[in-house]
Amino acid sequence: MTSTSTNSAANDALSIHRRAIVVDMHADTTQRLVDEGVDLDQRLADGHLDAVRAKEGGLDAQFFSIWVEPELFGLGGARAVKRADLQIEAVRARAAKHPETWELATTAADVRRISSAGRIAALMGLEGGYAIDEKLENVARYYQMGVRYMSAAWSVSTSWAGSSGDAVGQTRGLNDFGHAVIREMNRLGMMVDVSHLSDPAFWDIVKTSTKPVIATHSGCRAIANVPRNLTDDMIVALAKTGGVVNVIFYPEHIEPGWSEQKKKVDAEIASPVQRASDEEKGDAVHKKLARDRVRREEYLKRLPPVTVARIVDHVDHIVKLVGIDHVGIGSDFDGVQAVPSDLKSVADLPNLTAELLRRGYSESDIDKILGGNMLRVMGEVERH
Ligand SMILES: [Zn+2]
Repeated sequence: MTSTSTNSAANDALSIHRRAIVVDMHADTTQRLVDEGVDLDQRLADGHLDAVRAKEGGLDAQFFSIWVEPELFGLGGARAVKRADLQIEAVRARAAKHPETWELATTAADVRRISSAGRIAALMGLEGGYAIDEKLENVARYYQMGVRYMSAAWSVSTSWAGSSGDAVGQTRGLNDFGHAVIREMNRLGMMVDVSHLSDPAFWDIVKTSTKPVIATHSGCRAIANVPRNLTDDMIVALAKTGGVVNVIFYPEHIEPGWSEQKKKVDAEIASPVQRASDEEKGDAVHKKLARDRVRREEYLKRLPPVTVARIVDHVDHIVKLVGIDHVGIGSDFDGVQAVPSDLKSVADLPNLTAELLRRGYSESDIDKILGGNMLRVMGEVERH
């Protein structure tokens, strides 16, 4: 090989991608482990993430979302706690069963070590604070179980924090207990996630937290105007804490107008979705899986395709606002019914790096976006 070809090979997107430590801040694959019993170490025919495709896509670290669905498991109580505990056990069991592929990680140093050994770091974040059941001591309990970030609410507000997904969230920030939870997370070294939170809750959190605040899977409201996304003022405030906005891949939150179109499609497909649910003989969780299956097929047919270029538009926007040190990635794989056409699964992650390179980002910029910025934040939040 001549030196010229060595250089060009070393600087192509795939080589840069393979050298980088790639950290995905959010995937809902955890619920597939519990509800569908999928074997994550085989190439799965459906879904967005498994170990085989993760290796192909150069993924080094995955935050598994510990998600308690409020309609099915409530906003607290024993069922919500049990639902979270089951998912944590499933992630831990996966790493224990396949130590050649996965290792449970809780620190930035763990991620670097596991990645350099050629394995995938498995980390956990609690999505929606329902599982702490309004008890401060449960924050430490989940920290001890390995959870390293938490968002105070998902699409339904808690008594102590407003969600962007319901009406009460529009005026609800954090109450006294909510402030105490954020302080406890700071004390323990658990990262504070603002994805899904209402605007008042966001502002209360950035004022309260003494450690960097992150959004694990969000977009920019200036591009895609949905309440779930962050305004420019919010992105600036979050960056001032030293935090990172991890850009979500879900078309509804990145593509202008997609959310409105989806609402129309949801109305059109209401009866086949209901039929799939009625015909499913399993429990409520399996009925939801059946509904989502129909939604996935119909969205693919009826909604316009979105590409990685749109994800990078959000990256560009954040970089223009606050610089290169405050942006990362949070796929929401296996938690959404649509993905970009050139990012169908974790195996396609190098396409994202190719687009970043095409837009003029340097290798060190790309390292930061793909995981370096989040490793910095993890290090800062960890207790000394
Ligand atoms: Zn989410």
